[in-house]
Amino acid sequence: AIAASLRGTVASVNLGAIQSNVRRLLQVIGPDVALMAVVKADGYGHGALPVAQAALAAGARWLGVAMAEEGIELREAGVQAPILVLGPNNREQLAAAIRYRLDVVVYSPESLEWVIEAAQEVDREARVHLKLDTGMGRIGIPAAGLDEAWLERLSHPRIVWQGLMSHLADADQDDPASSREQLKRFLDAVEWLRQKRGSLPPWLHLANSAATLRWPGMHFNLVRVGIALYGIDPLPGEWGLRPALSWYSRIAMIKAVEPGTSQGYGRTYRARTAERWATIPVGYADGYLRGLSNQAAVLIGGYRCPVIGRVSMDQLVVRLPEALDAHVGDRVTLLGDDGEERLTANHLAEWAGTIGYEIVTRIGTRVPREYL
Ligand code: PLP
Repeated sequence: AIAASLRGTVASVNLGAIQSNVRRLLQVIGPDVALMAVVKADGYGHGALPVAQAALAAGARWLGVAMAEEGIELREAGVQAPILVLGPNNREQLAAAIRYRLDVVVYSPESLEWVIEAAQEVDREARVHLKLDTGMGRIGIPAAGLDEAWLERLSHPRIVWQGLMSHLADADQDDPASSREQLKRFLDAVEWLRQKRGSLPPWLHLANSAATLRWPGMHFNLVRVGIALYGIDPLPGEWGLRPALSWYSRIAMIKAVEPGTSQGYGRTYRARTAERWATIPVGYADGYLRGLSNQAAVLIGGYRCPVIGRVSMDQLVVRLPEALDAHVGDRVTLLGDDGEERLTANHLAEWAGTIGYEIVTRIGTRVPREYL
């Protein structure tokens, strides 16, 4: 704890914001649809366990992780809620998942064989969700490939068929045409199943954050929400979400420089006039992406201060505005609010040419998380 507090660089996670986002999402989906809080990749960099606990307390009913190990960590910490392992997992991971009562995704013929073998080995039933590939092209059986042979395989006594699911490739894009096409393939498979089997598995799910917010017709009875839970807008617009993560550091050094002075590796920035620069002890090894070099800004004393020159592994440099009376040790906001100014993960993403998801999941283990 001492080591964590020495540095003055911290990612501060507001669990109240997570809860407020859950309540907002519950309003959007209504009482007949359940919310899965997707907490893979250590809760999108926010901390899987605290986020999971906050989301469940606010009314989320499911948790989603990418791999068995992530679900096991939650179970070992005492989480009892249903957890779905969303990603492709190998035989060993699937066996471990079943041992820990995690629901798993069946996404290929082998994955079902592995699950059945594992369930027999650990002498337990396996709860599975069949993943259809309706256009994402990653994992899942082709939606049109759901046939009687699959029904036969899934009726194995060790298998509890919990869900039918798919994933959208561009729910966040302006043009809804390809998402509609994915929906149609999913609905066709659902209809085929209803007729052939006479019943459906208890959970049908397709929507991620963007689809949850914009398309009620894609909610079915469970939505899998990640990015919106953290208050990062998945789409342009006003969605009533609150960013949960702020990232702070402190000024390490201030200097006045002559016109023409260069900053950093490659000398990609030169002072045009006499300038004041502040060095911040954060770099790409902390997840402040090198792609932010000469693009981003940080907030100090309520001012936006541009990042000048290359971001290095452990340090970056910003130019101070003339009006700002800054001192060594002053707080620097890399992400979050300062006065009237706000920097969101989507701002940083735009500057770095990436997406908000990458900004938050890359914040490194060297940055301690604190919880409000
Ligand atoms: N469902 C699946 C299968 C995913 O892989 C993800 C994350 O990428 C999600 C849901 C959540 O997506 P989002 O963070 O866009 O809500």
